[in-house]
Amino acid sequence: MNKVNVKDLDVKGKRVLLRVDLNVTLNKHGEIIEENKMRSSLPTIKYLSEQGAIVIMASHLGRPQGQPVEELRLDPVAKELAEMLGKPVYKTDKVVGEEPLKALEMLKSGDILMLENIRFHPGETTNDPELARQYAQLADIYVNDAFGTSHRAHASTVGVAELLPAAAGLNMEREIIMMSKILESPERPLVAILGGTKVADKIELINHLLDVVDFLLIGGGMANTFFRAQGVDMGKSFVEEDKVQAAEEILARTKNKKANLVLPVDFIAASEASENSDQKVVAPDSVPSDWMALDIGPETVQKFKEILKTARTVIWNGPLGMFEIEDFAQGTMETARFIADLEAVKVIGGGDVVAAVEKAGVAEKMTHISTGGGAALEFWEGKELPALSVLPEKVTV
Ligand code: ADP
Ligand code: MG
Repeated sequence: MNKVNVKDLDVKGKRVLLRVDLNVTLNKHGEIIEENKMRSSLPTIKYLSEQGAIVIMASHLGRPQGQPVEELRLDPVAKELAEMLGKPVYKTDKVVGEEPLKALEMLKSGDILMLENIRFHPGETTNDPELARQYAQLADIYVNDAFGTSHRAHASTVGVAELLPAAAGLNMEREIIMMSKILESPERPLVAILGGTKVADKIELINHLLDVVDFLLIGGGMANTFFRAQGVDMGKSFVEEDKVQAAEEILARTKNKKANLVLPVDFIAASEASENSDQKVVAPDSVPSDWMALDIGPETVQKFKEILKTARTVIWNGPLGMFEIEDFAQGTMETARFIADLEAVKVIGGGDVVAAVEKAGVAEKMTHISTGGGAALEFWEGKELPALSVLPEKVTV
């Protein structure tokens, strides 16, 4: 990566504003149920603290729409982080202004402070220059380690980066290196798996992938839209009706593309999206009219495995079924475990698919689990990431 890296800077005794992505998934009791983002943030935090910087962390959590929301305060995240670091993490109740400035006066070299959820401030997502100026006022140096928000031009990702000496953090660097490697010079065969529900978000990605991958396996709710595009009645299955046309075009286009687009050959269909509903394995064109396809079937899993077995590189976004419900998790779980044991480069990107891989207990066996959902997708599509573009390049002499 040709961007200035946190290790290129002298941070000793400096105040460093660190944009981290601690937008973790919380359960309904407000407990953190996602370790990937926490774990991935640690190396840069530790590095800065050990180098004697005063670390000021800035993260968002959820979508508070520019005002304080009690359940989205970062206190539990600060607490968990302190435990993981074995070191106090101080926290402010405000994003910027007098309170953080006061708090900073008390801190010494190596100390760590967390600002309140930055999306409590209405200027964050609008990239308000005044907010960017207030962020800059807190620190001497800016480091961005939040790959997950790098596709957004916000005050904490772009605005402030233009005002301070800036660098990429270690997680950001790792993400970019891993993501670039797999798309620029992947070991082949390169197999991509797409699932989940958001065809709308992923159309461009599919088009791009069809040019670069050897196989594109499609499962999850997305597959339903592709069958509908072929005139199949999918019963009450999830189908993105307004994307049927787009799916039709993709199918037509695949005829002259390099990649093989592989759709499911069977589904687990059910009368209801719930545990212990009536369920059976059906061919894609035989979903009963008041039932829905909720997982890929055993023959599809087998077929996917046959292809995956040959892969030297695998990228995966989106679960292959409604994995949150045990009865429809098998396709995703079996595929996750199979990929985990492959001798290949295995990269997982996306919110839900990462949760699924963690649920399958095989996260450590993957080459890379991206901390970015949307950002990973946009990177794979070949789009520019504004928060990355704004970071300075290394000067070579
Ligand atoms: P990711 O976060 O990995 O990018 P998405 O957000 O696109 O994935 O989609 C995840 C959601 O897709 C999950 O909540 C899952 O339940 C749902 N899903 C997957 N397959 C189906 C299906 N056949 N029918 C309905 N929902 C599905
Ligand atoms: Mg998702």
